[in-house]
Amino acid sequence: MIQEILQELEPFGARLVAVSKTKPIDQILEIYHQGQRIFGENRVQELMDKKDKLPSDIEWHLIGHLQRNKVKYIAPFIRMIHSVDSIDLAKEIDKQAEKCSRRIPVLLQIRIAEEETKFGIEPQKVDQFVGDLLSLNLDHLKISGVMGMASFVEDEDQVAAEFHLLKEIFNRIKADYFIGSPDFCELSMGMSGDYQIALRQGSTLVRIGSLLFGSRN
Ligand SMILES: *Cc1c(COP(=O)(O)O)cnc(C)c1O
Repeated sequence: MIQEILQELEPFGARLVAVSKTKPIDQILEIYHQGQRIFGENRVQELMDKKDKLPSDIEWHLIGHLQRNKVKYIAPFIRMIHSVDSIDLAKEIDKQAEKCSRRIPVLLQIRIAEEETKFGIEPQKVDQFVGDLLSLNLDHLKISGVMGMASFVEDEDQVAAEFHLLKEIFNRIKADYFIGSPDFCELSMGMSGDYQIALRQGSTLVRIGSLLFGSRN
């Protein structure tokens, strides 16, 4: 399965985050031995439990909602946090990154889905958010792009429109705040059910779980 997915990503130059949440160590190792190095988890406790049992060259991405009091556990090693949606969380990541003498790559999670979801910055508030964030000069954050999740619907046009919106927000923020900065380059969008649509809309990182590992209970 993974080879087929990688072949689909190749012409787009996109990378795969293998979403291993709820999956056991041996299944993760199976994918690892096929060459995959980027894995994503959405819960800190589960990530900590798995990390020490798995090879140290895995690049762990935190893709789910992150509570401030959990940041300290992952700060020493996390390779990217996809889910920054509050200034307080950004400040905490910066603080913990400084303690580890690291600069942690983060993505701003934007609420692009029409359906009611709890997390993410509202599209109309993104400019204000980025302005506020940059005014804080959080030197230990590497603001690397945006992440979003489309509505869970059959209508492919709606999904495409939501990913398109995220791409537009990415382009606008890059032009307004990160012109000439190579750091701001990631558009994290697309999951098992919609990654092909996301690729056509310019995704650079797809987060795929069930298609790779089988469905979760
Ligand atoms: C679980 C999860 C995914 C992967 O979902 P699949 O449909 O299993 O591919 C991607 N992104 C986030 C934020 C998730 O929580």
